[in-house]
Amino acid sequence: MLTAVVGINWGDEGKGRMVDLLSGAYDIVLRYQGGNNAGHTVVNDKGKFILNLLPSGILRDETVNVMGTGMVIDLEHLTHEIESLREKGIKIDPSRLVISDRATICMPYHKMMDILEEDRLADKKFGSTRRGIAPVYADKYMKKTLRMGDLLHPEVLKDRLNDLVEWKNLTVAGGYKHEPVDADAMYDWLMKYGEPLRDYIKDTTVYLTQAADAGKNIMFEAQLGALRDIDFGIYPYTSSSSTIAAYAPIGAGIPAKKLDNVIGIMKAYSSCVGEGPFTCEMFGEEADKLRGEGAEYGAATGRARRVGGFDVVASRYGVMVQGATEIALTKLDILSYLDRIPVCVKYDINGVLTDDFPTGVELDMAKPVYEYLPGWKEDITGCRSFDALPKEAQDYVKYIGQVTGCNIKYVSVGAGREEYFEM
Ligand code: GDP
Repeated sequence: MLTAVVGINWGDEGKGRMVDLLSGAYDIVLRYQGGNNAGHTVVNDKGKFILNLLPSGILRDETVNVMGTGMVIDLEHLTHEIESLREKGIKIDPSRLVISDRATICMPYHKMMDILEEDRLADKKFGSTRRGIAPVYADKYMKKTLRMGDLLHPEVLKDRLNDLVEWKNLTVAGGYKHEPVDADAMYDWLMKYGEPLRDYIKDTTVYLTQAADAGKNIMFEAQLGALRDIDFGIYPYTSSSSTIAAYAPIGAGIPAKKLDNVIGIMKAYSSCVGEGPFTCEMFGEEADKLRGEGAEYGAATGRARRVGGFDVVASRYGVMVQGATEIALTKLDILSYLDRIPVCVKYDINGVLTDDFPTGVELDMAKPVYEYLPGWKEDITGCRSFDALPKEAQDYVKYIGQVTGCNIKYVSVGAGREEYFEM
């Protein structure tokens, strides 16, 4: 069984929590895109973990985790993430973690370029996490990056690094007038953080093809949501990678394999980190209350997230581009404080109402059309079945399934591993 678990909205839908829950049924959990620019928060019997780079299956002793071909990996960040998990008693060795030899290395100068450019943009900034993701993907497509497999051949790597740094300094020193990147310091960094990882680096295409052919269950874990996809998201306020399920086999390293199902993670309300159009956004006290109840602060950066009601237009689009076959609805419990539940049912673009998620200037112009559904005003974290939910909460879940056109299979009512039920 090949299953992708993906975000339907802007990210932060609670994917980490659902992957942690579902991963018990999978032999392998892999990440297929992105870097340490987002975080998954997982709370289970071992404690609370924030994972930026490692697949969430790392928290289960019996699961093999793969960092796929489509990822960009900051070696220093990965080293610290591994160390911090080890300190909490998580066993990490090459039998449990495999890193694709084709995955791209995110260098300190990519991070620096990200910061230089965001600072240059000043009030026109993109709201980047400043972790080098856009610069490293740009270099990847310029064919000017190092890949994990290069760490296995340090002498060749050194020559190539020197060429790359010479090229990079045309921009860093020439364009931004910043102190040039020092190739020797970069080499030292690569050796310090890269060498200890060498035993983890493998050809994941061979490994995963064999695993899939042997009937192993593989979970493809996405980072960020559909609306952050470089092609289908709110460009240019997207991430720089493909977050959608269709890309999962490619980014994993097994492009010829087909997914059997796609589990879309959808939050019972909306949140969005950083700049860009967010039509359903709420402001003032209403927003502060929802942000507080939902603890909507970035796992990677601690930034306060923008929040809004459930967005029917964006979520239906997210379900479509993800090709979701089933939905896990998360954080339903957060809405328990509300007398009435705000839902953005349509967009108004210059007086014309639409159900279709627009792009570009039209998206910038879109205004939300809000309606309200009855609230339930009681604690639902203890509910372990649909029937146990108050009637208004049942109606809300049914409504979301109906308007997004997707089958809701799981409902999460708390952060803990057991705080959910299946429909
Ligand atoms: P991700 O990147 O998609 O995993 O999203 P986040 O890192 O923002 O995780 C969502 C946050 O909400 C984490 O702190 C989770 O522990 C928490 N969470 C996930 N599902 C639920 C839920 O159903 N109810 C509550 N109260 N918290 C949840």
